[in-house]
Amino acid sequence: MAEAAPKISFVSLGCPKALVDSERIITHLRAEGYELTRTHEGADLVIVNTCGFLDSAKAESLEAIGDAMAKNGKVIVTGCMGAEPGEIRGRFPGVLAITGPQQYESVLGAVHEAAPPAHDPFVDLVPPQGIKLTPRHYAYLKISEGCNNRCTFCIIPKLRGDLVSRPAADVLREAERLVRAGVKELLVISQDTSAYGLDLKYAASPWRDRAVSARFYDLAKELGELGAWTRLHYVYPYPHVDEVIPLMADGLVLPYLDIPFQHAAPNVLKAMRRPAHQEKTLERIRRWRDTCPDLAIRSTFIVGFPGETDEDFEFLLAWLKEAKLDRVGCFRYEAVKGAPANDIAAPVPDELKDERWHRFMKTQAAVSAQRLKTKVGRRIPVIIDEPGATVAKGRSKWDAPEIDGNVYVASRRPLRVGDIVTVKIERSDDYDLHGIAV
Ligand code: SF4
Repeated sequence: MAEAAPKISFVSLGCPKALVDSERIITHLRAEGYELTRTHEGADLVIVNTCGFLDSAKAESLEAIGDAMAKNGKVIVTGCMGAEPGEIRGRFPGVLAITGPQQYESVLGAVHEAAPPAHDPFVDLVPPQGIKLTPRHYAYLKISEGCNNRCTFCIIPKLRGDLVSRPAADVLREAERLVRAGVKELLVISQDTSAYGLDLKYAASPWRDRAVSARFYDLAKELGELGAWTRLHYVYPYPHVDEVIPLMADGLVLPYLDIPFQHAAPNVLKAMRRPAHQEKTLERIRRWRDTCPDLAIRSTFIVGFPGETDEDFEFLLAWLKEAKLDRVGCFRYEAVKGAPANDIAAPVPDELKDERWHRFMKTQAAVSAQRLKTKVGRRIPVIIDEPGATVAKGRSKWDAPEIDGNVYVASRRPLRVGDIVTVKIERSDDYDLHGIAV
């Protein structure tokens, strides 16, 4: 008889990139016969995949570790916060092991030591596409690790190192497996998607009957041909990004670009050392929309960056009104330990940060409402995330899961998760659309 499989409780914190790491670890563990359990109590071991990007994320990570220690006591910590183990060791000396991001081997080694695998590995329990923590109809596809940029507010390159891209064929094989397993939407992620392949010198790798170069355009095109929705995240406005816009106009890749602009004022962008900050962005956006009128642009911004003046902030608001971005998130600047930005200039006082944040959000809400109004009356495809008795929740091609808006779909027939249905849009509000399945 097979031994009982050790049970692992897994906590995954942080960004989509960390989620992909969690999925990899879990897939390995499942392949070795480990079981997952939802509660810390009764588990043989708890793994906490931490995020250490902002102080608030660190606090959340420490709280999760504390909770696991209290409820279970056998805890392995991995992820971004694991790159600096001092703080964790100081607070929780009893933690079994601490490993940094992407140190899959070390995590697995620590697990083997603390809870050796059962003798009879249930390899066939692992679905061929691996274990996904996202719902089955969409999946994150990580195309590279690390980052060659050195934005002054960010410690990710310190934590994760320089850019390391996956060969194109490797990414495409994973994407194909996901699509075969029923995934309808691929979310391409990395720290800097448009830099993809630079470290590989864009080397080609064999895929089907051809060689595919590790280039942003080539990869996007091949992914688009797999038949699922392909959404591009974390793209910087380098000149070569212009090439993918026709792929969007042709319907091969979703008409969606997630570009974390972070600011618009030249002074602030320079102080942030943002990639591609000298490109004439407003002009580029105009041209992109000429080529692909349906293009949705989503972005994130930081207000209250050290040294941000009133003029800088007014510049940002004016830029925002002009750029008319579709989806926007905004953060108040938070000092990250070890980030050079902290020493650039005097911090902006919290009340002023708050005031700027509110003005920013108000300005963008008006832009967003205006953009969404133009969709009323159209018939658009919507992917269903959550079925409902009479109204289902879904997303348009212009909305990524978790971060963007929703489309609320009234339907007489039952809709299932992952269905892509045509919806007639009847009304809009600040962030969402409402319509009826036709
Ligand atoms: S692009 Fe900048 S913000 Fe993004 S990971 Fe690289 S250094 Fe950090």
